[in-house]
Amino acid sequence: MTQYVLAIDLGTTGNRAILFDRAGQLYAQAYKELTQHYPHPGWLEHDVTEIWADTQTVVRDVLVKTDTNVSDIATIGLTVQRETCVLWDKTTGEPLHKAIVWQDRRTAPLCRELTAQGKAEIIQQKTGLVLDAYFSATKLKWLLDWVIEHKPEVDLDNVLAGTIDTWILWNLTGRQVHATDHSNASRTMLMNLETRDWDLDLLELFGIPAHIMPTIQPSLGQFGTTSANVIGAELPITAIFGDQQAALFAHGCDQPGLLKCTYGTGCFLVAQMGTHIARSSQNLLSTIAWTTADQTYYALEGAMFTTGACIQWLRDGAQLIESAPETEAIAQSVADTDGVYFVPALSGLGAPHWDMSARAAFFGITGGATQAHMVRAVLESIAYQVKEVVDAANTDSGSPLVRLKVDGGASKNNWLMQFQADVLGIPVERPAVSDATAQGAAFGAGLASGFYADYADLIAARQVDCVFEPGEDAQAAQENFELWSKAVSRAKRLD
Ligand code: ADP
Repeated sequence: MTQYVLAIDLGTTGNRAILFDRAGQLYAQAYKELTQHYPHPGWLEHDVTEIWADTQTVVRDVLVKTDTNVSDIATIGLTVQRETCVLWDKTTGEPLHKAIVWQDRRTAPLCRELTAQGKAEIIQQKTGLVLDAYFSATKLKWLLDWVIEHKPEVDLDNVLAGTIDTWILWNLTGRQVHATDHSNASRTMLMNLETRDWDLDLLELFGIPAHIMPTIQPSLGQFGTTSANVIGAELPITAIFGDQQAALFAHGCDQPGLLKCTYGTGCFLVAQMGTHIARSSQNLLSTIAWTTADQTYYALEGAMFTTGACIQWLRDGAQLIESAPETEAIAQSVADTDGVYFVPALSGLGAPHWDMSARAAFFGITGGATQAHMVRAVLESIAYQVKEVVDAANTDSGSPLVRLKVDGGASKNNWLMQFQADVLGIPVERPAVSDATAQGAAFGAGLASGFYADYADLIAARQVDCVFEPGEDAQAAQENFELWSKAVSRAKRLD
């Protein structure tokens, strides 16, 4: 009898393989950090051959370290960083350029041009998305233009396009299956939310030939089987989700009114809206939560681009810290930020501002400011951004949120979670398994394949690690939020 579901979780910061057992519990995992390429300010690329190599490495590592046989795996669930996209040659299997990552701002001028042409409204109506460089459409156009200019020998009939799920699925299946799921497709700015298929007008607008696009399938369902010479056995792949939608699934948010916030490279607040498309008056995105063969679930989402990414920058760029976890003790070592505020706009600002030209800034620095004040200001800015989006979601829903469910790498930071509860004035609940993204992919794949019998049972068995209640510092945190908002307004519109 098979023992595990294998979740492959391909994030922005790194790639993971995690085994979940028959009870839905995390059994073991392997992880590899991913190289970030910054060719120009505001640009970010990933090498998809590295992502494919690391996928195979982490799968092998988790099997070897637990002495697990491939035949013990019932099925695979795949979840990925969204919007990031790539073109490759289907005859050679080689990518034609590095992938353009979701945070990359290189197509902001094109977005401004399209806005000036009055296209933002129709794009929003068709796709539910704000016209922004964040989504795949303008990135795919940029890649196609680049290939036509720099690799004129490439025959476009041999080119395939995809987000990271599509690239990895194609490779896992021995180059047989070129597909994606609705949750990933809904982030490309090319899928029509009503028809749940590629929108031919939008493909034409962006100059993208329909034949290079993958087939869109339900998130829970049969995506094919792995090729035996890839990971040593023919295993079914029975779920694909965008990372944020996978986390929503793992938290059991299957009814309107339920929402979660994931703290990874960015922060993403996603609210389940049920089986009808919901529209926001607060610049939140309308998107697909997930689909099954006979049902579509929609969501509203507030996407904040750089949160954990600011911690990576403190480590690798500014070199103010040596590791992400140490920010917890550093923030705790000072009573406050001494008046220092950080605007985390390393890749512009997403919800609720949608300002591609905003750039990060420290404000309020005086001679007394230390490394600890600056690190604390960066952590505080993560929680302030989430407060802005919670406020927007509260305005949309009309009934204020009473508890925030969290997950993701940076949710492990206790100081940050306590500060989040203080600034929101509501409890913050962290589950025992903070890798909700991988857990959602495993739950989805296990349910679709029959390995798991019941979604509600899986959700009921999840354990809470900690509930952070608003404490004595709540009032000061909420007052400082007002000053931080002022700093944000000064970092906006730098073009
Ligand atoms: P992704 O799925 O976007 O790759 P993860 O959920 O794996 O992200 O989280 C990684 C991010 O979380 C990194 O940006 C890292 O800097 C941040 N992070 C991890 N641990 C901590 C911590 N203890 N405190 C603050 N940030 C952290």
